[in-house]
Amino acid sequence: MANIFVYELDGKTYINLTNACTNDCIFCLRNDKDDVCGANLWLETENFTAADVIAQLETHMSSRACSGISQTLKKVQGDMKEITFCGYGEPTLRLDILKEVAAYIKENFPGTKVRLNTNGHANAIRQRDIVPELAGLVDEISVSLNAPDEHQYNEISRPKIKNAYKEVLDFIACCAHNKIKTTATVVQGFKGMQIDTAACEKIANELGAQFRVREWIENGY
Ligand code: SF4
Repeated sequence: MANIFVYELDGKTYINLTNACTNDCIFCLRNDKDDVCGANLWLETENFTAADVIAQLETHMSSRACSGISQTLKKVQGDMKEITFCGYGEPTLRLDILKEVAAYIKENFPGTKVRLNTNGHANAIRQRDIVPELAGLVDEISVSLNAPDEHQYNEISRPKIKNAYKEVLDFIACCAHNKIKTTATVVQGFKGMQIDTAACEKIANELGAQFRVREWIENGY
């Protein structure tokens, strides 16, 4: 099966750039499912370019144009309110491709909001601050805070990098500092697990971010 980079969920468009991740979260959808609404997000190969992703995005846009009775591609572009980098892996592991595709979206669909869902490990992985490179390309970043302290974070996220919790906190602060709309998130209710969301919200706000609780739903959507 060919790689699925672009998929749709509840009328919104998502981009899947990798199956690699520096976390192994206990609630990760990848542990239970191969697909999101029928789109198999396991990539056949990670050997691809930004042009491959953009080509699929263009096909996706065209098919949306064809699906409406009298929709033109221009109208679909206007309807495309947001595109989110998400998928079955950590998008910033393919940072160059992410930036190239985001730049393409900004240039060709200037009214479209670009969002990124991330585990917040990018600066640790790259050993530099990559957030200024995202400013202007990504409008909103959602960072998986997951827990109010390092111990619980490690239990939930099972990170493969050192000092991951501190790295996540620093990343959230960097995003807010660069004036990117930033939301720290936690997943509540996985197999009865309860997170102190008030403590998490306080941490998020002190770092300059907004906060959102995602109730865990079996199947993920
Ligand atoms: S950060 Fe996301 S992709 Fe990575 S293991 Fe956790 S839920 Fe899965």
